[in-house]
Amino acid sequence: MKPSVSRVVHYVSFGTPGGEYKSECRAAVVTEVGEVWVPEGQQPPEGTPVGLAVLNPSGMFFNRGVMQDERDHQGGTWHWPEREPDNSPQVHVNASLSPAQAKQVTEMIQAALLQQAKRGRTTGIKLPGRG
Ligand SMILES: [Zn+2]
Repeated sequence: MKPSVSRVVHYVSFGTPGGEYKSECRAAVVTEVGEVWVPEGQQPPEGTPVGLAVLNPSGMFFNRGVMQDERDHQGGTWHWPEREPDNSPQVHVNASLSPAQAKQVTEMIQAALLQQAKRGRTTGIKLPGRG
């Protein structure tokens, strides 16, 4: 699929050499679509270079000539957003409960969640990395 201006893709951030920050996918908006020029008789590289407005959780930057890397997702490249795996965390309850039992279980879970929320977090949002 060819990218076009305004599409949202992933930009792969560079991790720090010491590993404090991992290389991560960031949201990015395509600002321009580039072309690759190669000398006659040579194979152009795979993918399309684009300009991006990269949206980091704490700031934004612009980059031009970003190469596409669908296979290795190396730092400093872009790719189409991955699909969420079907087995993302979910709670499956397989039980036949009476309405009273169901209510009891729900209350237990709610109480546990409330306790968890009270224990440590000032907000209900968990931010990965530097937060
Ligand atoms: Zn990604």
